[in-house]
Amino acid sequence: MHRLLVATHNAHKTAEIQAMLGPEFAVSDLRAHPGLPVPDETGATFAENAQIKALAASPHFEGWILSDDSGLESDALQGAPGVHSARYAGPGATDADNRAKLLEELRLAGADPAGSPARFRCVMCLVLNGEVLGSFSGAVEGSLICEERGGGGFGYDPLFVPEGHTRTFGELSQEVKNSLSHRSRALTRVVQHLRLALESGS
Ligand code: IMP
Repeated sequence: MHRLLVATHNAHKTAEIQAMLGPEFAVSDLRAHPGLPVPDETGATFAENAQIKALAASPHFEGWILSDDSGLESDALQGAPGVHSARYAGPGATDADNRAKLLEELRLAGADPAGSPARFRCVMCLVLNGEVLGSFSGAVEGSLICEERGGGGFGYDPLFVPEGHTRTFGELSQEVKNSLSHRSRALTRVVQHLRLALESGS
């Protein structure tokens, strides 16, 4: 059994990662390690923030540590909200506040209301005994529309129509979203890496 700590408090992410890694991994997260430091996410990129989170936990945990950082990038807004996705409308902003700010910024930028190019991006960082083993990226391309549709998902989901679909992530089922998502694509790469590492005996 291999111990893997997910550097998150989000139970949903932990369950998704446990499901993809399978039973030979004992997956826990920061909820089971309340004393661990929660660092400020001061990085300029998703990769930097993911690394900050994994390395902050590593002196306190023996085994693999996996962290992730994710967000939305709009071409009309030169990549914003990007690493600021969670607090786009300011400290303490709710998802609804952030969506309202995004819609306003897209309107001011003259983005096509029928759909302007954007993507969700996720970068995961894998650390073992203080050493960064790799950075694994996943993205889902799509477009941002000018009104909210659907009550499912979270964050910017009601505004985002993934490529090849006509419904937003807020309207599509969780299964469909998970099969396409930036997080599942990054995680697929992590799983491939871990399996190879285990096969080669490291
Ligand atoms: P985190 O990396 O999970 O903390 O996500 C950062 C922020 O990006 C979230 O608060 C959301 O605003 C946005 N975000 C990341 N992934 C998604 C997604 O799958 N759907 C909608 N919004 C997302």
